[in-house]
Amino acid sequence: MTNFAESPLVREIRLLAQNLYRLGWDERNGGNISCIIPQEEAEQYFDLSRTIRTISMDFDGRELAGKLFLVTGTGKYFKNVYDDPENNLGLVRVREDGAGIDLIWGYADGGRPTSELPAHFMTHIERLRVDPLHRVVLHTHPTNIIAMTFVHDLSEREFTRTLWRMCTECMVVFPDGVSVLPWMLCGNDEIGRVTADKMKEFRLVVWAQHGIFGTGRDIDETFGLIETVEKAAEIYMKIAHLPVLQTITDENLWEIADAFGNTPRAGFLDP
Ligand code: 13P
Ligand code: ZN
Repeated sequence: MTNFAESPLVREIRLLAQNLYRLGWDERNGGNISCIIPQEEAEQYFDLSRTIRTISMDFDGRELAGKLFLVTGTGKYFKNVYDDPENNLGLVRVREDGAGIDLIWGYADGGRPTSELPAHFMTHIERLRVDPLHRVVLHTHPTNIIAMTFVHDLSEREFTRTLWRMCTECMVVFPDGVSVLPWMLCGNDEIGRVTADKMKEFRLVVWAQHGIFGTGRDIDETFGLIETVEKAAEIYMKIAHLPVLQTITDENLWEIADAFGNTPRAGFLDP
């Protein structure tokens, strides 16, 4: 049997964690990743009828029953994922009753999935309803996005409009905009539910003074979305205190959207 840790999918997640750590977005145990793993992929490595142990969940995961996820462990450092995937990652399957998950591989030192599992799983449920090809949820702590939530109006419209104006690519990459939640306690069902509720309409949800949740069909798409928002936030933090002499106007943003066949989120741009 081939080594699951060296499979292309796990390698992609190991590399993502390493990249995020080096970007400085995921200090200590900051951030978490979950990715749907197709059964056909997992079957190449495991007898899926064998489970290591069961981990209970408080929220109702029935809509994900039978699905397999690769998930980072709680308290684990992204810095360490690449070299030690078996302790820092887990392959889990949601149980038929939706009240727990079966561990198939990983969390070798007795670990558990991320404390943000409710936000991840509830988000997977909502995104799958919108897009059957959805697969990835990434939570990370990008420095400039967090900084921006201290000094900018947190309304979705105003926050998105500012980001769109910071570089031309933003309207190309996230015409659907970003949602923003006010500061809330993390790691519980409530923030999970509020985040997932926003995910009915958005692919990106900023958690003020904390970080961001991004979603997508694959790792590149998901990372690319967050990376673009972070770049825009970085530019904002560099110019916000300076006299701005020219900017990208609403008219320009319409031009970009038209040129790329994108539809800006309704009501966010002046007509
Ligand atoms: P975990 O270590 O439980 O994944 O939590 C990290 C985090 O970023 C909480 O929001
Ligand atoms: Zn966090």
